[in-house]
Amino acid sequence: TFNRDFFKRSITNMAELIEKERNYLTKLDSDIGDGDHGINLSIGFREVSNKLSEFDESAADIASLMKKVGMALLGKVGGASGPLYGSFFMKMGANVAGKDEVTFDEFVGMIENGVDAVQSRGKAEVGDKTMLDAFKPGIDFLKEEDYTGKEIEAFGQFIEKMKEGAESTVSLVAKKGRALRLGERSVGHKDPGSESSWMLMNAFYEEMS
Ligand code: ADP
Ligand code: MG
Ligand code: MG
Repeated sequence: TFNRDFFKRSITNMAELIEKERNYLTKLDSDIGDGDHGINLSIGFREVSNKLSEFDESAADIASLMKKVGMALLGKVGGASGPLYGSFFMKMGANVAGKDEVTFDEFVGMIENGVDAVQSRGKAEVGDKTMLDAFKPGIDFLKEEDYTGKEIEAFGQFIEKMKEGAESTVSLVAKKGRALRLGERSVGHKDPGSESSWMLMNAFYEEMS
């Protein structure tokens, strides 16, 4: 069930995985950016982790809990990823106001809201070598899939689509973010945000079964 506890566990899982992957994500960013992606996310998710019970106590519903998480990321993370992931979480609950438990359909809608927020904030398109190259094919798959009766399996496939999208950034020339300055030299490297985005969504998947 997609209740408040599911979201709290997933967020805690995200904070743990960011600590584990911090150096790896930073390494990806040092190849084509300024080498701080893992550090940025770690600063943000440590804050989220420290404040999670406080957020939970003051949040009226899941939407408000996610909004607080997003605002913490937005406030703490210095880089481009702060406002982008911040918006993702802040907008997630737009379709589930007042709810303390949501259906799988509504959960998919929440992710769709998040992806839309990343796109409208960052103005990137698929192919620009950003986190959107992972998010967009993933959410498009879920929106089209008839997953009734096999929801968890479909979410696993969503993660696979995101991973493939992240992999696809290796051969792309960057059109947004810091890697833009490298032009053709950005080819051959994976976009760090595309990698962190599937990892973060995988934290939801790990809390599902
Ligand atoms: P910064 O580049 O400011 O140091 P981070 O290193 O934390 O910030 O995050 C970089 C990631 O942000 C990139 O790998 C990319 O996926 C993502 N990103 C940057 N600009 C955009 C954008 N306009 N739209 C979507 N994602 C973006
Ligand atoms: Mg960076
Ligand atoms: Mg930076």
